[in-house]
Amino acid sequence: MEQTARQTTNAELQLDEQAYGENPLENRDTDLYRGEYIMSFVEKWDELIDWRARAEGEGQFFIDVLRARGKETVLDVACGTGFHSVRLQEAGFNVTSADGSAAMVAKAFQNAQARGLILKTVQADWRWLNRDIQGKYDAIICLGNSFTHLHTEADRRRALAEFYAALKHDGILILDQRNYDSILDHGFSTKHKFYYAGDKVTAEPEHIDEGLARFKYSFPDGSEYTLNMCPIRKNYVRRLLSEAGFQRVRTYGDFQETYADSEPDFFIHVAEKS
Ligand code: SAM
Repeated sequence: MEQTARQTTNAELQLDEQAYGENPLENRDTDLYRGEYIMSFVEKWDELIDWRARAEGEGQFFIDVLRARGKETVLDVACGTGFHSVRLQEAGFNVTSADGSAAMVAKAFQNAQARGLILKTVQADWRWLNRDIQGKYDAIICLGNSFTHLHTEADRRRALAEFYAALKHDGILILDQRNYDSILDHGFSTKHKFYYAGDKVTAEPEHIDEGLARFKYSFPDGSEYTLNMCPIRKNYVRRLLSEAGFQRVRTYGDFQETYADSEPDFFIHVAEKS
C-alpha cells in the first residue's frame, strides 16, 4: 500500500504535460486534477496568484471569521501552494495543510519553509479525507475555487460528508467558489480583483457549458495551462451544505455581507455545524 502511494507520488511529480486525453472538453472527471496540477504549472501558480496583492485583496476576512468564532485548529483541505496555510499560521492558528496533489503539498511546504515556518502537511483526497488525517478540527477551509474540481454530485456530497466528519461538533467550513451563476447567465467579465491578482497572467474561460467551465491561464513566457472545473451555482452549493448537515450557511460576495448577485467574482460560504 505504502509502496503504491510513493510510486503514484513520484509519477505525478514527473509529469510535464497536462493529461486531458483526446478530447479535453469531454474530460469531466473528478480525478483529473492530479493530471492538471503538474510541476511546471504548480511552479507558475505563485506567479498567477501574487501573494502580496492577494493578501491585500482579501484583508483580514478569514482571520476575522475564525477569530470571531473562537476557532484555533484549522485544516486547509486545498492548500495548493500554501497561501492561506501560511497566512493563518503566521496569524497564530494551528494549521494542518492537505491537498490531493503531491506537487502542491511539496510546494506549500517549500513556500512555508522559505518564510521560516514548518507546515504540517498531508496528501489527502477529499473523498477519503478521514482515512488520511487524524483528529477533529475547529475549522476547515477549502478556498481558491477548489471545490469546483469535483465533477459529480456524488463526489461533492461525499467530500462534504468527509469535511463534516473531520470537524468538531461546533466546527465550521469555509468554502469559496467563482460566481458561476453570473458566468452562465451573463457571460464572463472580471478583473480578478481579489483572487488572481498577478497582473502578468491572464485567466479566462476557454469553454463554458452547464457542466464545464474550462479556464485557460496564460503566462508571460507564452506557456498556457488549463483547468476543467464544474460551474456549480451558488444556491445549489448552499443546498448541498445544508443537506450535508450544516445548520447555518452564510454566503458572502467578494468578502461583503451584502451584494447584488451578479456582481461578485467569488462567493464565500461559511457553514456552521451547530
Ligand atoms: N487553495 C489554494 C489557493 O487558493 O491558492 C489552491 C487552489 S487550486 C485552484 C485547487 C486545489 O485543490 C489544488 O491544489 C488541487 O490539487 C486541489 N484539489 C482538487 N481536487 C481535489 C480533491 N478531490 N482532493 C484534494 N485536493 C483536491
